[in-house]
Amino acid sequence: MLSRARVVVVIALALAGWVGSAAAAPPRGRTPRLADRLIWRWVPNLSHAASVKAVSERLQTQFGHAMPNKDWQVTADRMLRRHGRIPASVLPESLPPLPAVASTHLAAGVIKTALAASDVRSGYIYLERQAAALRGSSNELEQQLGSALTSYLARYKAKWAKPWLRQQRARFAKAPREAWRFTETVNYQDSISSEQRAVIEKRIARAKRVLEHLVDPQVLLRMPPVPIQVGSQFSGPCIATEANGRKLIHLTPTSSVKDLLHELGHWVEDFGGWRIFTTMHALRWRRSDGRLSELGKLLEGTTYDATQKAFNGKFVAPYIGRKYAGGSTEVLSMGLERLVNTRAAYKFFQQDGEHLLLLLASLQGQR
Ligand SMILES: [Zn+2]
Repeated sequence: MLSRARVVVVIALALAGWVGSAAAAPPRGRTPRLADRLIWRWVPNLSHAASVKAVSERLQTQFGHAMPNKDWQVTADRMLRRHGRIPASVLPESLPPLPAVASTHLAAGVIKTALAASDVRSGYIYLERQAAALRGSSNELEQQLGSALTSYLARYKAKWAKPWLRQQRARFAKAPREAWRFTETVNYQDSISSEQRAVIEKRIARAKRVLEHLVDPQVLLRMPPVPIQVGSQFSGPCIATEANGRKLIHLTPTSSVKDLLHELGHWVEDFGGWRIFTTMHALRWRRSDGRLSELGKLLEGTTYDATQKAFNGKFVAPYIGRKYAGGSTEVLSMGLERLVNTRAAYKFFQQDGEHLLLLLASLQGQR
Protein backbone atom coordinates (compact mmCIF):
# COMPACT_ATOMS: atom_id res chain seq x y z
CA MET A 1 0.00 0.00 0.00
CA LEU A 2 1.23 3.48 -0.82
CA SER A 3 0.86 6.16 1.83
CA ARG A 4 -1.54 9.02 1.14
CA ALA A 5 1.37 11.47 0.65
CA ARG A 6 3.01 9.20 -1.91
CA VAL A 7 -0.27 8.86 -3.74
CA VAL A 8 -0.46 12.64 -4.04
CA VAL A 9 3.11 12.75 -5.39
CA VAL A 10 2.33 10.03 -7.90
CA ILE A 11 -0.76 11.93 -9.04
CA ALA A 12 1.25 15.14 -9.42
CA LEU A 13 3.80 13.25 -11.54
CA ALA A 14 0.96 11.79 -13.57
CA LEU A 15 -0.42 15.25 -14.20
CA ALA A 16 3.02 16.42 -15.38
CA GLY A 17 3.18 13.36 -17.60
CA TRP A 18 -0.32 14.00 -18.87
CA VAL A 19 0.31 17.60 -19.82
CA GLY A 20 3.60 16.76 -21.53
CA SER A 21 2.64 13.40 -22.94
CA ALA A 22 2.39 12.77 -26.65
CA ALA A 23 0.71 9.39 -26.38
CA ALA A 24 -1.74 8.07 -28.94
CA ALA A 25 -5.24 9.52 -29.24
CA PRO A 26 -7.57 8.35 -26.45
CA PRO A 27 -9.97 5.50 -27.07
CA ARG A 28 -13.55 6.50 -27.67
CA GLY A 29 -15.56 6.66 -24.47
CA ARG A 30 -16.51 3.22 -23.26
CA THR A 31 -15.89 1.35 -20.06
CA PRO A 32 -12.21 0.45 -20.31
CA ARG A 33 -12.56 -3.14 -19.04
CA LEU A 34 -11.36 -5.84 -21.36
CA ALA A 35 -14.48 -7.97 -20.88
CA ASP A 36 -16.67 -5.05 -21.90
CA ARG A 37 -14.51 -4.35 -24.92
CA LEU A 38 -14.82 -7.96 -26.04
CA ILE A 39 -18.57 -7.91 -25.54
CA TRP A 40 -18.73 -4.66 -27.47
CA ARG A 41 -16.86 -6.24 -30.31
CA TRP A 42 -18.58 -9.61 -30.63
CA VAL A 43 -22.18 -9.15 -29.56
CA PRO A 44 -24.39 -7.47 -32.17
CA ASN A 45 -25.11 -3.94 -30.94
CA LEU A 46 -28.78 -3.10 -31.44
CA SER A 47 -28.14 0.58 -30.92
CA HIS A 48 -25.55 0.70 -33.70
CA ALA A 49 -27.81 -1.33 -35.97
CA ALA A 50 -30.77 0.99 -35.27
CA SER A 51 -28.71 4.11 -36.00
CA VAL A 52 -27.23 2.67 -39.20
CA LYS A 53 -30.77 1.79 -40.29
CA ALA A 54 -32.13 5.27 -39.44
CA VAL A 55 -29.34 7.16 -41.20
CA SER A 56 -29.16 4.85 -44.23
CA GLU A 57 -32.94 4.99 -44.74
CA ARG A 58 -32.84 8.77 -44.81
CA LEU A 59 -29.88 8.73 -47.19
CA GLN A 60 -31.71 6.30 -49.42
CA THR A 61 -34.87 8.43 -49.45
CA GLN A 62 -32.96 11.55 -50.40
CA PHE A 63 -30.27 10.22 -52.74
CA GLY A 64 -31.35 6.66 -53.61
CA HIS A 65 -32.91 7.59 -56.95
CA ALA A 66 -29.63 9.16 -58.11
CA MET A 67 -27.39 6.33 -56.84
CA PRO A 68 -29.55 3.17 -56.82
CA ASN A 69 -26.61 0.76 -56.39
CA LYS A 70 -24.88 2.47 -53.53
CA ASP A 71 -24.53 0.64 -50.19
CA TRP A 72 -26.07 3.28 -47.94
CA GLN A 73 -25.44 1.24 -44.80
CA VAL A 74 -21.68 1.56 -45.29
CA THR A 75 -22.03 5.32 -45.80
CA ALA A 76 -24.25 5.62 -42.72
CA ASP A 77 -21.78 3.69 -40.57
CA ARG A 78 -18.92 5.95 -41.72
CA MET A 79 -20.95 9.08 -40.99
CA LEU A 80 -21.85 7.84 -37.51
CA ARG A 81 -18.22 7.21 -36.65
CA ARG A 82 -17.13 10.61 -37.95
CA HIS A 83 -19.86 12.64 -36.30
CA GLY A 84 -19.39 11.22 -32.80
CA ARG A 85 -16.28 13.34 -32.32
CA ILE A 86 -16.34 16.28 -30.01
CA PRO A 87 -14.73 19.62 -30.90
CA ALA A 88 -11.83 20.18 -28.48
CA SER A 89 -11.43 23.74 -29.72
CA VAL A 90 -14.09 25.11 -27.40
CA LEU A 91 -12.35 24.15 -24.16
CA PRO A 92 -9.88 26.29 -22.19
CA GLU A 93 -6.30 25.04 -21.88
CA SER A 94 -5.51 24.65 -18.20
CA LEU A 95 -6.75 22.03 -15.77
CA PRO A 96 -6.61 22.01 -11.95
CA PRO A 97 -4.47 19.36 -10.19
CA LEU A 98 -5.97 15.91 -10.38
CA PRO A 99 -8.14 14.81 -7.45
CA ALA A 100 -6.49 13.39 -4.32
CA VAL A 101 -8.41 10.15 -4.30
CA ALA A 102 -8.74 7.94 -1.24
CA SER A 103 -7.25 4.63 -2.33
CA THR A 104 -4.28 3.43 -4.31
CA HIS A 105 -6.59 1.51 -6.61
CA LEU A 106 -8.39 4.70 -7.51
CA ALA A 107 -5.12 6.60 -7.83
CA ALA A 108 -3.85 3.96 -10.25
CA GLY A 109 -7.04 4.30 -12.24
CA VAL A 110 -6.77 8.06 -12.43
CA ILE A 111 -3.16 7.86 -13.51
CA LYS A 112 -3.90 5.29 -16.20
CA THR A 113 -6.75 7.45 -17.46
CA ALA A 114 -4.70 10.63 -17.45
CA LEU A 115 -1.72 9.06 -19.21
CA ALA A 116 -3.91 7.78 -22.01
CA ALA A 117 -4.70 11.31 -23.16
CA SER A 118 -2.44 13.18 -25.53
CA ASP A 119 -2.96 16.75 -24.31
CA VAL A 120 -5.01 18.76 -21.86
CA ARG A 121 -8.01 19.24 -24.11
CA SER A 122 -8.32 15.70 -25.34
CA GLY A 123 -7.48 14.64 -21.78
CA TYR A 124 -10.46 16.58 -20.54
CA ILE A 125 -12.77 15.03 -23.11
CA TYR A 126 -11.37 11.60 -22.40
CA LEU A 127 -11.92 12.01 -18.66
CA GLU A 128 -15.45 13.22 -19.30
CA ARG A 129 -16.25 10.03 -21.17
CA GLN A 130 -14.47 7.81 -18.71
CA ALA A 131 -16.31 9.41 -15.80
CA ALA A 132 -19.67 8.70 -17.44
CA ALA A 133 -18.65 5.14 -18.25
CA LEU A 134 -17.22 4.41 -14.80
CA ARG A 135 -20.19 5.85 -12.95
CA GLY A 136 -22.40 3.39 -14.82
CA SER A 137 -20.16 0.42 -13.96
CA SER A 138 -21.34 -2.42 -11.74
CA ASN A 139 -17.96 -2.47 -9.96
CA GLU A 140 -18.04 -0.37 -6.79
CA LEU A 141 -14.44 0.82 -7.07
CA GLU A 142 -15.00 1.92 -10.62
CA GLN A 143 -18.10 3.81 -9.52
CA GLN A 144 -16.00 5.60 -6.89
CA LEU A 145 -13.39 6.49 -9.47
CA GLY A 146 -16.15 7.78 -11.74
CA SER A 147 -17.47 10.00 -8.94
CA ALA A 148 -13.95 11.26 -8.14
CA LEU A 149 -13.41 12.14 -11.80
CA THR A 150 -16.82 13.79 -12.02
CA SER A 151 -16.20 16.08 -9.04
CA TYR A 152 -12.74 16.89 -10.39
CA LEU A 153 -14.20 17.88 -13.75
CA ALA A 154 -16.90 19.88 -11.98
CA ARG A 155 -14.19 21.98 -10.31
CA TYR A 156 -12.56 22.51 -13.68
CA LYS A 157 -15.82 23.66 -15.25
CA ALA A 158 -16.78 25.86 -12.29
CA LYS A 159 -13.96 28.25 -13.16
CA TRP A 160 -15.11 29.21 -16.62
CA ALA A 161 -18.30 27.41 -17.59
CA LYS A 162 -21.00 29.93 -16.63
CA PRO A 163 -19.68 32.95 -18.59
CA TRP A 164 -18.78 30.60 -21.44
CA LEU A 165 -22.29 29.11 -21.52
CA ARG A 166 -23.79 32.60 -21.43
CA GLN A 167 -21.68 33.43 -24.50
CA GLN A 168 -22.72 30.25 -26.28
CA ARG A 169 -26.40 30.91 -25.61
CA ALA A 170 -26.03 34.37 -27.14
CA ARG A 171 -23.64 33.40 -29.88
CA PHE A 172 -25.91 34.40 -32.78
CA ALA A 173 -27.82 37.13 -30.94
CA LYS A 174 -26.66 39.75 -33.41
CA ALA A 175 -26.68 37.63 -36.56
CA PRO A 176 -29.04 38.74 -39.37
CA ARG A 177 -31.97 36.34 -39.63
CA GLU A 178 -34.68 38.23 -41.45
CA ALA A 179 -35.60 35.24 -43.62
CA TRP A 180 -36.33 32.71 -40.87
CA ARG A 181 -40.05 32.06 -40.52
CA PHE A 182 -40.38 30.24 -37.26
CA THR A 183 -44.08 29.38 -37.21
CA GLU A 184 -46.49 29.03 -40.07
CA THR A 185 -49.62 29.22 -37.97
CA VAL A 186 -50.52 29.08 -34.30
CA ASN A 187 -54.06 27.80 -33.79
CA TYR A 188 -55.81 28.19 -30.47
CA GLN A 189 -58.80 26.00 -29.83
CA ASP A 190 -61.97 27.53 -28.44
CA SER A 191 -61.36 26.19 -24.94
CA ILE A 192 -58.25 28.40 -24.58
CA SER A 193 -58.94 31.62 -22.68
CA SER A 194 -57.43 34.94 -23.75
CA GLU A 195 -55.19 34.93 -20.63
CA GLN A 196 -53.90 31.45 -21.49
CA ARG A 197 -53.35 32.57 -25.04
CA ALA A 198 -51.30 35.58 -23.92
CA VAL A 199 -49.10 33.34 -21.74
CA ILE A 200 -48.49 30.84 -24.56
CA GLU A 201 -47.72 33.63 -27.05
CA LYS A 202 -45.06 34.95 -24.70
CA ARG A 203 -43.57 31.46 -24.26
CA ILE A 204 -43.48 30.85 -28.00
CA ALA A 205 -41.66 34.18 -28.46
CA ARG A 206 -39.14 33.24 -25.77
CA ALA A 207 -38.46 29.81 -27.25
CA LYS A 208 -37.97 31.43 -30.66
CA ARG A 209 -35.47 33.87 -29.17
CA VAL A 210 -33.52 31.07 -27.45
CA LEU A 211 -33.17 29.27 -30.79
CA GLU A 212 -32.23 32.42 -32.70
CA HIS A 213 -29.50 33.27 -30.21
CA LEU A 214 -28.15 29.75 -29.82
CA VAL A 215 -28.40 28.06 -33.22
CA ASP A 216 -26.50 28.86 -36.41
CA PRO A 217 -28.92 30.89 -38.63
CA GLN A 218 -28.05 28.59 -41.54
CA VAL A 219 -29.52 25.64 -39.62
CA LEU A 220 -32.70 27.56 -38.80
CA LEU A 221 -33.16 28.55 -42.43
CA ARG A 222 -33.21 24.89 -43.46
CA MET A 223 -36.24 24.21 -41.32
CA PRO A 224 -39.77 24.56 -42.65
CA PRO A 225 -42.05 26.80 -40.54
CA VAL A 226 -43.61 24.99 -37.58
CA PRO A 227 -47.41 24.76 -37.39
CA ILE A 228 -48.50 24.90 -33.74
CA GLN A 229 -51.85 23.92 -32.27
CA VAL A 230 -52.78 24.79 -28.70
CA GLY A 231 -55.60 22.83 -27.05
CA SER A 232 -56.56 21.80 -23.56
CA GLN A 233 -57.58 18.29 -24.64
CA PHE A 234 -54.02 17.26 -25.62
CA SER A 235 -52.34 15.01 -23.08
CA GLY A 236 -49.10 17.00 -23.29
CA PRO A 237 -46.76 18.77 -25.69
CA CYS A 238 -45.70 16.54 -28.59
CA ILE A 239 -45.02 16.33 -32.31
CA ALA A 240 -48.22 15.09 -33.95
CA THR A 241 -48.74 13.78 -37.47
CA GLU A 242 -52.02 14.51 -39.22
CA ALA A 243 -53.81 12.06 -41.52
CA ASN A 244 -52.29 13.78 -44.57
CA GLY A 245 -48.78 13.29 -43.16
CA ARG A 246 -48.29 16.92 -42.12
CA LYS A 247 -46.37 17.31 -38.86
CA LEU A 248 -47.20 19.89 -36.24
CA ILE A 249 -46.52 20.71 -32.60
CA HIS A 250 -49.30 20.19 -30.07
CA LEU A 251 -49.18 22.35 -26.94
CA THR A 252 -51.40 22.57 -23.89
CA PRO A 253 -52.19 25.82 -22.03
CA THR A 254 -49.57 24.88 -19.42
CA SER A 255 -46.73 24.03 -21.84
CA SER A 256 -43.54 25.74 -20.69
CA VAL A 257 -40.68 27.31 -22.69
CA LYS A 258 -38.68 24.18 -21.82
CA ASP A 259 -41.46 21.98 -23.29
CA LEU A 260 -41.47 24.07 -26.44
CA LEU A 261 -37.72 23.83 -26.80
CA HIS A 262 -38.01 20.07 -26.43
CA GLU A 263 -40.51 19.81 -29.30
CA LEU A 264 -38.56 22.29 -31.40
CA GLY A 265 -35.54 20.10 -30.79
CA HIS A 266 -37.35 17.31 -32.68
CA TRP A 267 -37.99 19.77 -35.48
CA VAL A 268 -34.29 20.70 -35.62
CA GLU A 269 -33.27 17.03 -35.58
CA ASP A 270 -35.68 16.27 -38.41
CA PHE A 271 -34.93 19.25 -40.65
CA GLY A 272 -31.61 20.75 -39.47
CA GLY A 273 -29.44 18.67 -41.81
CA TRP A 274 -27.38 15.52 -41.94
CA ARG A 275 -24.71 16.44 -39.46
CA ILE A 276 -27.18 17.15 -36.69
CA PHE A 277 -29.20 13.98 -37.27
CA THR A 278 -26.12 11.77 -37.46
CA THR A 279 -24.42 13.35 -34.45
CA MET A 280 -27.44 12.60 -32.25
CA HIS A 281 -27.41 8.97 -33.38
CA ALA A 282 -23.65 8.79 -32.86
CA LEU A 283 -23.98 9.93 -29.25
CA ARG A 284 -26.82 7.52 -28.48
CA TRP A 285 -24.96 4.63 -30.04
CA ARG A 286 -21.68 5.33 -28.25
CA ARG A 287 -23.32 5.78 -24.86
CA SER A 288 -25.58 2.78 -25.13
CA ASP A 289 -24.70 -0.78 -24.12
CA GLY A 290 -26.66 -1.89 -27.17
CA ARG A 291 -29.61 -3.43 -25.33
CA LEU A 292 -33.23 -2.28 -25.30
CA SER A 293 -35.44 -1.98 -22.23
CA GLU A 294 -39.10 -1.14 -21.90
CA LEU A 295 -39.54 2.57 -21.22
CA GLY A 296 -42.19 1.85 -18.59
CA LYS A 297 -39.58 -0.11 -16.60
CA LEU A 298 -36.83 2.50 -17.05
CA LEU A 299 -39.11 5.35 -15.97
CA GLU A 300 -41.06 4.61 -12.82
CA GLY A 301 -44.59 5.91 -12.60
CA THR A 302 -45.13 6.17 -16.35
CA THR A 303 -47.60 4.30 -18.53
CA TYR A 304 -45.64 3.48 -21.67
CA ASP A 305 -46.81 0.23 -23.22
CA ALA A 306 -44.46 -2.70 -23.68
CA THR A 307 -43.67 -1.82 -27.31
CA GLN A 308 -42.13 1.54 -26.35
CA LYS A 309 -38.46 0.98 -25.67
CA ALA A 310 -35.19 2.76 -25.00
CA PHE A 311 -31.54 1.77 -25.28
CA ASN A 312 -29.86 1.31 -21.90
CA GLY A 313 -27.02 3.72 -21.58
CA LYS A 314 -25.10 6.35 -19.68
CA PHE A 315 -27.39 9.28 -20.25
CA VAL A 316 -28.30 12.18 -18.02
CA ALA A 317 -31.88 10.83 -18.22
CA PRO A 318 -32.88 7.29 -19.35
CA TYR A 319 -35.45 8.76 -21.75
CA ILE A 320 -32.57 10.00 -23.97
CA GLY A 321 -32.10 6.40 -25.09
CA ARG A 322 -35.66 6.16 -26.50
CA LYS A 323 -35.96 4.36 -29.83
CA TYR A 324 -38.54 5.41 -32.42
CA ALA A 325 -39.54 3.31 -35.40
CA GLY A 326 -39.08 6.31 -37.71
CA GLY A 327 -35.43 6.83 -36.69
CA SER A 328 -35.86 9.97 -34.53
CA THR A 329 -34.06 10.25 -31.20
CA GLU A 330 -34.50 12.13 -27.93
CA VAL A 331 -30.83 13.20 -27.79
CA LEU A 332 -31.29 16.68 -29.26
CA SER A 333 -34.63 17.46 -27.62
CA MET A 334 -33.60 16.40 -24.14
CA GLY A 335 -30.39 18.42 -24.53
CA LEU A 336 -31.99 21.52 -26.03
CA GLU A 337 -34.60 21.76 -23.26
CA ARG A 338 -31.68 21.94 -20.83
CA LEU A 339 -30.38 25.08 -22.57
CA VAL A 340 -33.50 27.06 -21.66
CA ASN A 341 -31.40 29.32 -19.40
CA THR A 342 -27.77 29.52 -18.28
CA ARG A 343 -28.48 27.95 -14.88
CA ALA A 344 -30.04 24.85 -16.46
CA ALA A 345 -27.29 24.72 -19.09
CA TYR A 346 -24.66 24.85 -16.35
CA LYS A 347 -26.30 21.98 -14.49
CA PHE A 348 -26.42 19.96 -17.72
CA PHE A 349 -22.76 20.74 -18.40
CA GLN A 350 -21.83 19.57 -14.90
CA GLN A 351 -23.79 16.36 -15.36
CA ASP A 352 -22.79 15.49 -18.92
CA GLY A 353 -20.33 17.84 -20.56
CA GLU A 354 -19.88 15.63 -23.59
CA HIS A 355 -23.57 15.64 -24.47
CA LEU A 356 -23.68 19.43 -24.17
CA LEU A 357 -20.52 19.95 -26.21
CA LEU A 358 -21.67 17.65 -29.01
CA LEU A 359 -25.03 19.37 -29.08
CA LEU A 360 -23.50 22.84 -29.29
CA ALA A 361 -21.02 21.66 -31.90
CA SER A 362 -23.75 20.37 -34.17
CA LEU A 363 -26.09 23.34 -33.67
CA GLN A 364 -23.36 25.95 -34.03
CA GLY A 365 -21.08 24.47 -36.65
CA GLN A 366 -18.03 24.16 -34.35
CA ARG A 367 -15.95 21.42 -35.95
ZN1 LIG B 1 -39.35 14.14 -27.27
